[in-house]
Amino acid sequence: MTTVRPGRSVNGKDPPAIVNQRDQGMANKWIEIAQRLLMPHRCVVCGAPGAGRDLCKRCESALPWLGAACPLCALPADGVCGSCLRHPPPWKRQNALFRYEPPVSRLIHDLKFGSRLQNARLLGGMLAEEVERRGCAAEGVMGVPLHPRRQRQRGFNQAHELARVVAARLRLPLLTHRCERLRWTTPQSTLARRQRAANLRHAFRCGGRLPSRLLLVDDVVTTGGTVDAVTRSLLEAGADSIEVWSLCRALPAGER
Ligand SMILES: [Zn+2]
Ligand SMILES: [Zn+2]
Repeated sequence: MTTVRPGRSVNGKDPPAIVNQRDQGMANKWIEIAQRLLMPHRCVVCGAPGAGRDLCKRCESALPWLGAACPLCALPADGVCGSCLRHPPPWKRQNALFRYEPPVSRLIHDLKFGSRLQNARLLGGMLAEEVERRGCAAEGVMGVPLHPRRQRQRGFNQAHELARVVAARLRLPLLTHRCERLRWTTPQSTLARRQRAANLRHAFRCGGRLPSRLLLVDDVVTTGGTVDAVTRSLLEAGADSIEVWSLCRALPAGER
């Protein structure tokens, strides 16, 4: 297997994303095993001994849990909201655990930008517990793909790391290399609604053997444009239904 250092190219060309993902996945697996063997559970928020995981009971109850939400857009509502009734999204269901607020926002930030992969173990485990609690008929789990260039910069894809934990806990196949991000897009939050859809059109290409029911995992859903584009691409590639699960739903201004 070719060894590629993140951010470096082979023979002046960008290395294929598939090599990086496989190598990185293997490295992450060993890091996770080493962490599990060597490190006792300690609360990632306050540092106290963890209650069977890297979070103490007190900090767990103080997390910004989302509460009642629309089953289609995961924004606060009692039942399906008016916006989803007028414009039904392409997925079967969307769920999120938390509002995008501290300390969860900080844990996600440290995972993405500080390579704190133990946060993926904790947060992915909590996501899996909630999927089990609410029930899910998915036959496979997939993380929202990053652009290969961004994945090389970061060394891993945080959504994929969360999906890996969810798949392991639910004993479902983790789907890799079935969907790729083709375009480096402008951050969605800086664009107006119509521009967002144009920005993401054809940004993803999915293919290969896909199970009919898929669970799509992301760390934070903000405008919903990215999961919308991935879902449409997966449906075009042959999947029958998609459930979107994210750690956090960022609430639009005025709903925080
Ligand atoms: Zn704590
Ligand atoms: Zn809704």
